[in-house]
Amino acid sequence: MMPSPDLDDLYAEIILDHYKSPRNHHLLDSPALSAEGFNPFCGDRVVLNLALDDVGRIDAVGFEGEGCSISQASVSIMTGLLKDKTLEEASALNTTFREIMAGAEVTAVMEDELGELAALEGVKQFPVRIKCALLGWATLVDAIAEYRKAHD
Ligand code: ZN
Repeated sequence: MMPSPDLDDLYAEIILDHYKSPRNHHLLDSPALSAEGFNPFCGDRVVLNLALDDVGRIDAVGFEGEGCSISQASVSIMTGLLKDKTLEEASALNTTFREIMAGAEVTAVMEDELGELAALEGVKQFPVRIKCALLGWATLVDAIAEYRKAHD
């Protein structure tokens, strides 16, 4: 289904809002997980920090970054979604978002899970921008992989 023009406007507004006022836009004092990502195709950069509570849920998220609106809005929206999730749940969200970027139809369940991230669905029509949308998520995957390696 092609999004209607009105929906495109709404989505553009969500992306611009997160780009101009990024959420959780600060690094953490002592993050349990940390990684840096770079997208050479566009010059986008992200540093992502996560802190975990006693039972392994994400209880704080922060990032710094620079680059295009798609990359920075995507990571800003992502940080809001990660709070209170386990690392497994965070990985599952990453999988869902990648499926959408790869062309999967967005189901109501996915929309519930992803919230404002659905605003980025239109990016899949522009292959060079998909790397922008995925940068924060790729950085999250790296951070989780490093953390698991250190805690095995
Ligand atoms: Zn970009």
